[in-house]
Amino acid sequence: MMNKIGELMRQREQIRNIGTVAHIDHGKTTLSDNLIAGAGMISSELAGSQLWLDFDEQEQARGITIDAANVSMVHDLEEKEYLINLIDTPGHVDFGGDVTRAMRAIDGAIVVVCAVEGVMPQTETVIRQAMKERVKPILFINKVDRMVKELKLDPQEMQSRFIKIITKVNKLISQFAPEEVRSDWRVNVNDGTVCFGSATGNWAISVPYMERSGISFSDIIEACQNDSQKELASKAPLHVVLLNTVVRFLPNPLTAQKLRIPHIWKGDAESKVGQGMVDCDADATMAMVVTRILVDRHAGEVAVGRIFSGSVKQGQEIWICGINQKSRIQQAAVYMGPERVNMPSIPAGNILALTGVKDAIAGETLCGGEKAITPFEAIKHHSEPVVTVALEAHNTQDLPKLIEVLRQMAKEYPEILVEISEETGEHLLSGQGELHLEVLIHRIRTDKGVDVDTSEPIVIYRETIGGKAGPIEGRSPNKHNRFEIVVEQLEDSVYQAIKNGDLAQGRYRGRTSAPDFQEAGLVKEEARKVVDVCGGNVLLDMTRGITYLPEVIELVIQAFEEAVEGGPMSREKVIRMKVKLMDAKIHEDPVHRGPAQVIPAVRSAIFACMLTAGSVMLEPKQLVFINVPQEFMGQATKEIQTRRGQVRDIRQEDSQIMIESKAPVAELFGFSGAIRSATEGRALWTTEFAGFEPVPKDLQDEVVRGVRVRKGLKPKLPTVSDFLS
Ligand code: GDP
Repeated sequence: MMNKIGELMRQREQIRNIGTVAHIDHGKTTLSDNLIAGAGMISSELAGSQLWLDFDEQEQARGITIDAANVSMVHDLEEKEYLINLIDTPGHVDFGGDVTRAMRAIDGAIVVVCAVEGVMPQTETVIRQAMKERVKPILFINKVDRMVKELKLDPQEMQSRFIKIITKVNKLISQFAPEEVRSDWRVNVNDGTVCFGSATGNWAISVPYMERSGISFSDIIEACQNDSQKELASKAPLHVVLLNTVVRFLPNPLTAQKLRIPHIWKGDAESKVGQGMVDCDADATMAMVVTRILVDRHAGEVAVGRIFSGSVKQGQEIWICGINQKSRIQQAAVYMGPERVNMPSIPAGNILALTGVKDAIAGETLCGGEKAITPFEAIKHHSEPVVTVALEAHNTQDLPKLIEVLRQMAKEYPEILVEISEETGEHLLSGQGELHLEVLIHRIRTDKGVDVDTSEPIVIYRETIGGKAGPIEGRSPNKHNRFEIVVEQLEDSVYQAIKNGDLAQGRYRGRTSAPDFQEAGLVKEEARKVVDVCGGNVLLDMTRGITYLPEVIELVIQAFEEAVEGGPMSREKVIRMKVKLMDAKIHEDPVHRGPAQVIPAVRSAIFACMLTAGSVMLEPKQLVFINVPQEFMGQATKEIQTRRGQVRDIRQEDSQIMIESKAPVAELFGFSGAIRSATEGRALWTTEFAGFEPVPKDLQDEVVRGVRVRKGLKPKLPTVSDFLS
């Protein structure tokens, strides 16, 4: 088998890099079990009942390294062999980041939709993500047995339900697919890009397969009714039907990279490495993207990713492009089944795992050659960490281990935020919501084996301004230096460009960046004056020819960065602000214009301006999608409305009601339990980050005070005079 995989990974036309994606509970895990069982990795008797993801025991018993995240299999079709690399994409509602990263490694996806529930909010999310990454979909409609047994549908009704699901999926594909493939990528019953079946029953079928095998709808209904799915499974085995579809309809890396690279890599397309990636050329300069960091008890940190160009070799020196540092690969491995097997060299177009690469995080670009290349497009997280818990090791002797575990998790999940305080022993972990944190803490306790105590979750706010103010003069403590400051709201288009990464954070002094800022929406006079971008805020130096200013401009920038790191009201981060330095007077003697003079002068002027302009507290919001049977609709909407939530849309889908709403994260604590008891456990719900919005005016003072007290600041709200000496 090893030889076979080693051979196939050089045959680019015979490789398929794929993943399965689904709304939670639609059968993704069962399906993956089944595909792997079919390829001979676990016994087919066990498939459907045993989760292949439970590798711990096997790993111990067999003393080998098994990695649940990736599996490679060999599949035969029409006397040709294909290498199928299947990546596990996590199904948890709050782990959007993982799903997006996994998508970067694959070229095709099996979208699993439950026949009974139909298209659900997360189906939409995963299709949208797949389209963004230029990943081609095929559709598997699962749990068909339940249509027969529970819903007792006849062939006609079954077909109309299929059509409904297919139409919806196609609508989403059309909506989000890239122009050039929009019509091509729509799934179609007749050509076989749609399969349906039962993952627990081990069978799957498509219309072309029905025609070829002579199996009819009545046969299927009969098999499901009479519990004779086994026979159906022998005539139409799930892994054969689905993997045939994968091989036929999902692109090989050669085809896929031509389409995908121009969208996911914005470096010079004419360059050698750019060409190497478009051509999936194993002889070009090596370029790959890390999609996941795993921690392996034998090998330490393992970077899993997709190689797009060149070949990666054992012991090779490579660049970690995001931080412009070199590192050396110890081992390069591919997957044989779920096991990692070291190889001397791995060519473009494959999924691989590297050990020894220090300091890489998930999402990072690695390359060979003389210098670091432009990194791949940042993998966009729709979400931000907005809820924090403080963690402490339950047993003090676990403290070093907890720090280690938190450092690893920060690399595994770039969308979380970890702040380690070795002094107090109290560490902060921030995630997207209460549920997300619960899952992370569960992982620390069970997977990583560290018992931790946690604080109540805390919401993270932002500060901004409601208008413009200034010029206000800030004077240094020694009164020898003065800085005149104006603050304004930052143009939304500029803020979005910074958030998207189109405008980089950092210093702009001396850079010819004006056209970029002008394009983003700053007026010409201002675009030329940008000196720093920090945390979604911009600093402009509007002065001209001020003596000694060049000597202290670094300190002015530092003061601006400190100010936006923690605003005047509650020391929460500031966003969407433009700070302009209008005028300055600086002492000639360097002794009198040091950091202790300049920084407080500038910072207090910024704070005074902000309070004058009207400080605004922003709170994180989430979209909440709830699916409930009709009779519980009232209880479910009430649960949202009592939490300062707004219901935005209510749709009826068969006997189910779909409620789309938006609510503040601060009010959603305990929502899980509350909605469960309000709906007798019948509600299914998911959330999505919806950005920061102003706290209602009548609540703002109370919220600010709460944050201040928690941070050990005076409860009294600050005023302009606090910052003017
Ligand atoms: P995931 O959350 O998408 O990974 O879903 P799972 O694979 O864990 O499946 C969710 C539940 O649906 C489990 O209880 C499965 O046994 C069940 N399930 C999966 N596929 C089928 C199917 O084809 N028919 C039936 N009746 N149940 C299924």
